[in-house]
Amino acid sequence: MNNINNLGKKYNLFPLVSQGDYCPPAVINAEGIYLYDDNGKEYIDLSSQFVNVNLGHGNKKIITASQRQLETLPYIGSKFGASPVAELASKIAEEAAPEMKGKVFFTLGGADANENALKIAKNYTGRDKVFSSYRSYHGSTFGAGNLTGEARRFATEPGIPGFVKFFFPDISREDGFFTDEKIYSQYCIKKLEEQIISENPENIAALFLETVIGSNGVLIPPEGYLEWVRRLCTKYGILMVCDEVMTGFFRTGSWFAYTKFNIVPDIVTFAKGVTCGYLPLGGVIVSEKIAHFYDNNSFPCTLTNGAHPSCCAAGIAAMDEYIRLDIAAAVKKTAPLMAEKLESLKEKYISAGNVRSIGLLGAIELVKDRRNTPVFADTKNPGSVMADIMSIFYKNSLSTYHTQNMISVSPPLIITEEELDETFLRLEKVLSEVDKKYCV
Ligand code: PLP
Repeated sequence: MNNINNLGKKYNLFPLVSQGDYCPPAVINAEGIYLYDDNGKEYIDLSSQFVNVNLGHGNKKIITASQRQLETLPYIGSKFGASPVAELASKIAEEAAPEMKGKVFFTLGGADANENALKIAKNYTGRDKVFSSYRSYHGSTFGAGNLTGEARRFATEPGIPGFVKFFFPDISREDGFFTDEKIYSQYCIKKLEEQIISENPENIAALFLETVIGSNGVLIPPEGYLEWVRRLCTKYGILMVCDEVMTGFFRTGSWFAYTKFNIVPDIVTFAKGVTCGYLPLGGVIVSEKIAHFYDNNSFPCTLTNGAHPSCCAAGIAAMDEYIRLDIAAAVKKTAPLMAEKLESLKEKYISAGNVRSIGLLGAIELVKDRRNTPVFADTKNPGSVMADIMSIFYKNSLSTYHTQNMISVSPPLIITEEELDETFLRLEKVLSEVDKKYCV
């Protein structure tokens, strides 16, 4: 084992894996869609790390902008005015989310964006309860963990009173009971309204959802669903909060995914693609009416490192790069190619169960048979099966991450058509090995 891994194994705690046998590649350099380890081996970054390095690795414009800010005014507390903070907020409010006509509060990442959205929603409405969906992920802090609707929330349980879960629609899990998306949407909305009434709408501050469920398998809301949720929220005075931490910044092809579904939320949370990981940053966009409320009411949120000028400088440079590189046009071109390639995997490999994508946000459910049984269904230790499968990815020069049996297929948005071809060649090698080892 090399020195980096020796030290890492001794002193680091790695996320979401048993530490015992875990030994990831030690990455020492990265450029574009590629990572390089300390043995000189190259990997394609199939997941843009945590679906955040949208503009790829080694972008000089973002690096230089961050360096310049570090040299002039690296840090000033967020109660002062600061040029990069004001400029980035204005760009987000006017260019990325003009429909909200709102203001921006900057955080350090996605989880604390959701924490602060929770506080704002409760403070603004004076109500206590919060709805969020099963199958969602909202972050690893306590409030965001309680919003989360999958296994990563268990460590925060028994949890905070007043957090209510509803099912995010997934027609593929309805055993063929529904064939028409619109009817399915209406059914889900009927159930959601019943739940809202049962919880007393006057107690409900906010309804959180991922505009498209990201890490839990790219669940795209069925036709009409989000528009109906918007109407329900308006009807009952509940704030609609769209978590766009993963879907924002062109991951699905536009600044934010909510524009694809003809809705305007009351609050949007973002992180990841705002700086593409060059420096940490996240934030909360509040609508005009919420922003006005705080003209005469004290705003209840503060973070020592929030609105960090150097991180905001990285954010400005990243936003400029999305435009200069015309990432919207790039995704428009590569997204259908990726969708087609994903679909073709299903026919060729048993292990490729359901596949889904929107823009360059994609996922494969790894299964062991044609009935979509999760690949680790028969084992006592799903973690070790997935750890083994991750090592098959690394062996075939691909890097990605998984949530349960969902594999992220979300490359940097700068990926070219040729690079996409090469990526899928490698992916096919992985799936053929998984087929041989785990499928019946
Ligand atoms: N919300 C969503 C939809 C996410 O995908 C994530 C992270 O994957 C988060 C929130 C948490 O963001 P962070 O890891 O920056 O705290």
